[in-house]
Amino acid sequence: MRVLVADDDALSRKILEESLNHWGYEPVIAKDGDEAWDMLKEDGGPTLVILDWVMPGMEGIEVCRKVRARNTVNYFYIILLSAKNSHYDVIKGLESGADDYIIKPFHSEELRSRLKIGQRIIELEKRILCLASTDYLTALLNRRAFIERMEAEINRVTREKKSLGIVIADLDYFKSVNDTYGHQAGDLVLQEFSRLLCSSFRIYDFIGRYGGEEFIVGLPGASAEVSGAIAERVRRRFEEHRTLIPEWDAGIGVTSSFGVAAMENGQPELSIDGLIKQADAALYQAKQQGRNQVKIFRT
Ligand SMILES: [Mg+2]
Repeated sequence: MRVLVADDDALSRKILEESLNHWGYEPVIAKDGDEAWDMLKEDGGPTLVILDWVMPGMEGIEVCRKVRARNTVNYFYIILLSAKNSHYDVIKGLESGADDYIIKPFHSEELRSRLKIGQRIIELEKRILCLASTDYLTALLNRRAFIERMEAEINRVTREKKSLGIVIADLDYFKSVNDTYGHQAGDLVLQEFSRLLCSSFRIYDFIGRYGGEEFIVGLPGASAEVSGAIAERVRRRFEEHRTLIPEWDAGIGVTSSFGVAAMENGQPELSIDGLIKQADAALYQAKQQGRNQVKIFRT
């Protein structure tokens, strides 16, 4: 795990850098508060931070306040390190937004233990974020996470004048699977279909569970034709597939229907809702015309 260290004292920096390396962390070094703040503003930078309080330019507690004021998605765990050692200083440091406060000269093993606390908090936060965006049964994105990702992609492809394909898939007569074989069998079918989606779409496509037996895929850079072709491949593979239900000693076959739409490059911007409505309309058509087929939305 990377750890940002900001200290204006060269010797202090060297000791911290060597200790961190020794403990298996990857130190990222800043010589003062301004440099640290620049690094903390960057996307994907370190989120575990050791800040010296007194530095020329921006001081450690000011960096703390600025980090907290930004209200980012990722949590920054900040340890203030300072020779200021009165209770008043410790309180002021923690009130600026620091998670922990260590008085210099620091005890090496104590710093190590306190860093472990920070690491635990950051890893816990990552796990929570992951759980909050994942569908429990299929491990695909949940609906909210899919829409968030879609929002980011739609902005990007609009800016870059690229295409964005969307596929909505729905299992045919799924209710009868649950009714006949039970919900556990239904869950198995959903899981196998999810796996098939993951292995059939491209690595940069993103896949979500949209509702009960409804799935949704975003395909950056893909036209409606390309999206439709991949959907057709999934449809055929699933049609041939049998899901083994151990309790029934049986393999059941389920088919799937697909609606496809795309925001093609150069086309006027569509909202996410608009794009999903188009794919939904195509899916409705596929269902109406007998299911087990792929339909592409045509204006
Ligand atoms: Mg200093």
